[in-house]
Amino acid sequence: MKKFFITTAIDYPNSLPHVGTAFEKIGADVMARYKRLCGYETCFLMGNDEHAVNVEKKALSLGLDTQEYCNKMAEKFKAVWKQLNVSYDRFIQTSEPAHIKASQEMFLRAQKNGDIYKGKYKGWYCNSCESYVKEKDLVEGKCPVHNMPPAAIEEENYFFALSKYRDRILKFIEENPSFVEPEIRRNEVLNILKEGLEDLSISRSNFKWGIPVPGDDSGHAIYVWFDALINYITGAGFSDDAEKFARLWPADVHVIGKDITRFHCIIWPAMLMSAGVALPKKVFGHGFVYNKGAKMSKTLGTVVDPAGVAEKYGADTLRFFLVRENPFGQDGEFSIEKLESRYNSDLANDLGNLLHRTLTMTEKYQQGRMARPADIAPDAELQAKLDAAIKAYEPLMDAFEFRDALAKIWELISYLNTYIEKSAPWTLAKEKKFDRIAKVMYDVCESLRIISIMISPVVPASAEKIYAQLGLDAVKPMKDMRIEDIKQWGAIPDGLEVKKGAPVFQRIV
Ligand SMILES: [Zn+2]
Repeated sequence: MKKFFITTAIDYPNSLPHVGTAFEKIGADVMARYKRLCGYETCFLMGNDEHAVNVEKKALSLGLDTQEYCNKMAEKFKAVWKQLNVSYDRFIQTSEPAHIKASQEMFLRAQKNGDIYKGKYKGWYCNSCESYVKEKDLVEGKCPVHNMPPAAIEEENYFFALSKYRDRILKFIEENPSFVEPEIRRNEVLNILKEGLEDLSISRSNFKWGIPVPGDDSGHAIYVWFDALINYITGAGFSDDAEKFARLWPADVHVIGKDITRFHCIIWPAMLMSAGVALPKKVFGHGFVYNKGAKMSKTLGTVVDPAGVAEKYGADTLRFFLVRENPFGQDGEFSIEKLESRYNSDLANDLGNLLHRTLTMTEKYQQGRMARPADIAPDAELQAKLDAAIKAYEPLMDAFEFRDALAKIWELISYLNTYIEKSAPWTLAKEKKFDRIAKVMYDVCESLRIISIMISPVVPASAEKIYAQLGLDAVKPMKDMRIEDIKQWGAIPDGLEVKKGAPVFQRIV
């Protein structure tokens, strides 16, 4: 079986996820579900990045043991992802023994390869960034991101010889343009590489909440990237399941925020090259979701809680809004007004009404049963709309262009509404043209069957409801649907009974 291994960034558990974080996980989930639909054995990895100063501080402020705090937060994160119907297969905590082992192994391999040396680090460190800040990047002596003065640090650290890998990485990215997507991120990475690289400090001294540097008992902990990035191979079984690792690695795609794309495209490949591990196939940097133009941040008070939105509007509504409204590779906007209006126009009106009125007419004119027409082929105009949506679907989904894939599907939905208006089954009934009604109902229900499969990666729960109302559960369970099923016209058997229920999408008033 062909495999697909997809990962997301791991999150600091010092606060709960916001809608911006959810955008990343939902985007990755859409891809994972789509690949399962395409018949891939899919492994979808997510998790929490626990070794951070702010995580330790937060635990201390609550009077909790750091590990205990992290475990509690992991449960809370998982509950949020579950509520958003994010179908991860593996949730990693970087305090797991398997991960500690993997990080130390990667450190030792790089060390054996002569890529790790001890040196003095003198400079600035922003605790909120969890990152060293260069003097030249400070704005009036403050971290440009957090507007706070960084801490002055002078200590003996372990360094990774990143500069050594600059030429190889530059060549690799130039020769493999699909390694970094979208293009704007690739150009950014290439520019950084062309400027040249400095070696990287990869340990902190006197840092208790971290992974100990192997073979050093002076209290050095491995610092952020040589810990966090390694989660991707830990999750694939690097240190505890060789057979699984051989099957899953290299990752097919790392989905991450545009702000950390460069670390994934420079530091991570260098670490893997040094340790003799294959590089991932792709790094995709998604955009940010802003709240009325502002980045979602606790300090700015612009955070939107995705669990709260899902509780009020349903997970599918949030998923659909984020994916339909915002191109995954670019920045987008979130607002409740936009979410409600998108829901009403696309889901309640266009799709919901189409389904509901079709099922109502099937009950009224055909005793609730589908009749397979003698001439099964759809009308020519409908055929053209179907072809356009189906043909565009796979290339767009494969390229993370979910918004455009949905736009094509909604063109089809909109045409189907026009098709019903033009065919006017209510007039046909007066004229007793019941064969023609049967044909129109069949065309629309078959199209809805195909649509339910195509939208299932984005709105899984609603897609299942649509599928069930069409009566298709009696033919084959939706979970067994595969991409081939969208290309096969005529799957609804003669006499199939529809199961009209309450409208799948109730209008928000
Ligand atoms: Zn900062």
